[in-house]
Amino acid sequence: MRRTALTTPELLDELEKFHGRQEPCWPEDPYEFIVWWHCGYPASDATCTKGWEKLNREVGIEPDNLLAASPQNLAAALKPGGMVPELRGLRLKEIARRVKDELGGDLRAALSGPLSAARKTLKKFPSIADPGADRILLFAGIAPLAAVPSNCPQVLVRVLRGQERENYGVNYREAQQAIAAEVPETLDARKRAYLLLKRHGQEICKRTKPKCEKCSVSSHCAFFAGHRRGRATPA
Ligand code: SF4
Repeated sequence: MRRTALTTPELLDELEKFHGRQEPCWPEDPYEFIVWWHCGYPASDATCTKGWEKLNREVGIEPDNLLAASPQNLAAALKPGGMVPELRGLRLKEIARRVKDELGGDLRAALSGPLSAARKTLKKFPSIADPGADRILLFAGIAPLAAVPSNCPQVLVRVLRGQERENYGVNYREAQQAIAAEVPETLDARKRAYLLLKRHGQEICKRTKPKCEKCSVSSHCAFFAGHRRGRATPA
């Protein structure tokens, strides 16, 4: 079938028609997000939400709650979120201590300076790299960054250019450039793009074995049309 190329905004409209309007299922406050992110392992919306709910019920999420809790109680509260609850409990104490002692108890206020400084502050927390920092700054309403879901940079890359590269950083940058170039630089537009790409990447355009036969944008997709960009066709 002949491929008709879409712009990124047109692609997002198609994804919204298929998946519907998306809402974040995680807390948008920067401190709460970092706590939520450690409530599950491997981290996913489902595991983090399970651990987060029990942590809220049984311990509380404020820095003082986390610092006062015994390691055993913290691990027990985090257990529904999956593996290594003891280690995640220790990380939560580290996060709480940093926010309380180094950032005056208010992470959001500590992120109010230049973006480079905000990113640096966020990346000092465990398990937060550039994609996580971008996501936090976007969903907290601090900056309308071209954030890309860390586990789904392949969606935009495949549709617009063809098979993704083996290098994760290259894929992330290519997806980020596509958003930066064409999605309006507003919080709402950039959040919408993030959420739709995440949903599509998790359900249909999976990193391995994409479900192209079920995909609503296959007639516009460079990968589906056979663009391998110098790489062998997967068996
Ligand atoms: S056609 Fe396949 S590769 Fe292209 S977006 Fe859909 S699932 Fe992904």
